[in-house]
Amino acid sequence: MKEKVLLLKFGELFLKGKNRHDFISLLKKNILKKLKGIGCHLSETQGRLVLSDYNLGQEDEIIEKLKQVFGLIGVADAVATDAQLSDIEAEVLNCDFSGVKTFKIESKRADKTFPMTSMELDKHLGEIVLEKYPNLKVDLYTPNMIIYVEVRTNGKAYIYNRLHVCAGGLPLGSAGKGLLLLSSGIDSPVAGYMIAKRGLELEAVHFHSYPYTSVQAKEKVIELAKEISAYCGKIRLHIVSFTEIQEQIHKNCDSEYMITIMRRIMMRIAQKLAEKNGLGAIITGESLGQVASQTMQSMNVTNAVVNIPVFRPVLAFDKEDIMALARKIGTYETSILPYEDCCTVFLPKNPVIRPTLKRAEFLEGNLNIDALVQQAVDTEEILEIDTY
Ligand code: ATP
Ligand code: MG
Repeated sequence: MKEKVLLLKFGELFLKGKNRHDFISLLKKNILKKLKGIGCHLSETQGRLVLSDYNLGQEDEIIEKLKQVFGLIGVADAVATDAQLSDIEAEVLNCDFSGVKTFKIESKRADKTFPMTSMELDKHLGEIVLEKYPNLKVDLYTPNMIIYVEVRTNGKAYIYNRLHVCAGGLPLGSAGKGLLLLSSGIDSPVAGYMIAKRGLELEAVHFHSYPYTSVQAKEKVIELAKEISAYCGKIRLHIVSFTEIQEQIHKNCDSEYMITIMRRIMMRIAQKLAEKNGLGAIITGESLGQVASQTMQSMNVTNAVVNIPVFRPVLAFDKEDIMALARKIGTYETSILPYEDCCTVFLPKNPVIRPTLKRAEFLEGNLNIDALVQQAVDTEEILEIDTY
């Protein structure tokens, strides 16, 4: 009996014991969530997941969705047969060799009771292909086509020659949950994507300064959250007003410290939201040296107000690298829409490049920080974003 399936691969090297079981069940849960509404069956055989019983007309759509599931490294467009040599032979010969000049067979035998070793199988299948197609040649190094044959422990063999590369990483939820500071720029959506790829689920906070910033600026951030949610899963987006805070800083503090103090207050609010919602880390899109507020000294002064880890996934990335990733994950076009972010309101001409903690704390003495922070948290608006 043969059947069209998708064979799903995940990285396994680091998977041991209980870890492995948790990893795979999370991955399965996430895959089924991603494919909700699509009829299919997901099963597990040692080292692989198998998706079957779906409508073939939906295969491309399914593959595109699976490419957004963290933890999968590849999806093979496969045919499953019984693990009998005659069935495997028939399926290998059934491959479409049109336009192919050179090929190789790459077999894997997870089922050690199968009577041939992987190398024997490679050789045997190569020979029968050459018998049927005498014009073809075997090329072990740069073949036009590789035919993969996997004999698994569930009594099935999987034959395929098309492998779609997936996002990789670890299943969402395997690393806990964090709070992304999501601006409307290029960097923070990418930072969110990168950290979610390591298994961290996200909530996000956006600070807006309406009416200094427009309604479109807020819509833009919602759009960005939707775009990354396709990878990062459901995101609860906290929208926090920063208007009063910015006015107060503008009125009461040195302009060159404006951004430093703004960022320290953002961090304090983020920490409050993290505590309130059980989030274990704060994530930002800062990149070392990119602007005055992202020098080492600036980041130290900003960090001094929080006591949970702050992750900066793009810290060591050049802008070009961040932009390339933004294009790849589909956030770039939205990020470059021209609406102002709150950081550009009252922007000082000469922001301090090497702020000191002492000076920042001194200037903050002119503000009622606790009340400002509390008010911002109390008046937040919450949106549930889910395009996963
Ligand atoms: P981005 O491209 O992510 O906006 P940026 O290069 O413009 O980053 P900054 O504006 O200095 O840098 O912001 C640094 C980080 O601070 C952002 O990556 C983001 O994590 C956070 N941040 C900045 N502005 C906001 C905002 N309005 N709401 C939420 N987080 C913000
Ligand atoms: Mg920005």
